Amino acid sequence: MSNETLTIALSKGRIYKDTLPLLAAASITPVDDPETSRKLILDTNLPEVKLVVIRAADVPTYVQYGAADLGVSGKDVLMEHGGEGIYEPLDLGIARCKLMVAGRPGATETEGRLRVATKFVNTTRRYYAEQGRQVEIIKLYGSMELAPIVGLADCIVDLVDTGNTLRANGLVPLEHIADISSRLVVNKASMKMKSARMKDLIQRLAEAVDQAAAAA
Ligand code: AMP
Repeated sequence: MSNETLTIALSKGRIYKDTLPLLAAASITPVDDPETSRKLILDTNLPEVKLVVIRAADVPTYVQYGAADLGVSGKDVLMEHGGEGIYEPLDLGIARCKLMVAGRPGATETEGRLRVATKFVNTTRRYYAEQGRQVEIIKLYGSMELAPIVGLADCIVDLVDTGNTLRANGLVPLEHIADISSRLVVNKASMKMKSARMKDLIQRLAEAVDQAAAAA
C-alpha cells in the first residue's frame, strides 16, 4: 500500500470488538463491519487509514514484514511469534487473561517426563527450558482441556480467563506463566519512515487507554 497509508492489522472477534472504542477515541471509525463484510481491507472514515482483518496468529507476521504498519495482538500470540522486527509500544489493557499450566490437581508432580498439550509450543518450550524441566510437548490447535481427560497429556498450557472452562472439565490452574493482554505492535521500519503520523496515532491511542482505565 502507498507510503501515505497507515495500515492497521486486527483480528476478528474479541480483539476487534475491544479495539473499536480505542480507535474511535483516536477518531478512527471503520466504514465496513468485518463480521458481515467479506472485504479483507476495510476503509475507515480517514482516507489514509485502512484496517486489515486477519487471523490473530498472523498479525505479528503482517507487522514484522511491513504489510501492516501497526497491529493489535494478544501478548500470547506475540510471545509465540518471538517479536522479531516489531516494537510493542503500548499495552492496550484489553482481552486480559492469563497463560497458565492446568490439569487435574497434582498433575505436574510426576517424577517422569511431563506430557504437555498446547497450541503455544514455543512459549511452552521456553517456559520449561528456563526451569530445566524435560517435557514432551504435544501440539494441538484447540480444545486443549480435553487432552488430560482422555489421557493424551498430563497437563495443558492454555489461556484462562474466568476459569469456567477448566472447572467444567475437572481441571484446575496449576502454574502461572504470564499475564496476557492485547498490545499495540508496530513495524520498526514504518516507525522511522512514517514517524510523525505513527507517533501521533500511538499518542492518541495511549490517551484512549488512559481514559478507559480512568473510567473503569
Ligand atoms: P474461561 O472459561 O473464562 O477461563 O476462558 C477460557 C477459554 O477462553 C479458553 O479456551 C481460552 O482459550 C479462551 N480465552 C480466554 N481469554 C481469552 C483471551 N483474552 N484471548 C483469547 N482467548 C481467550
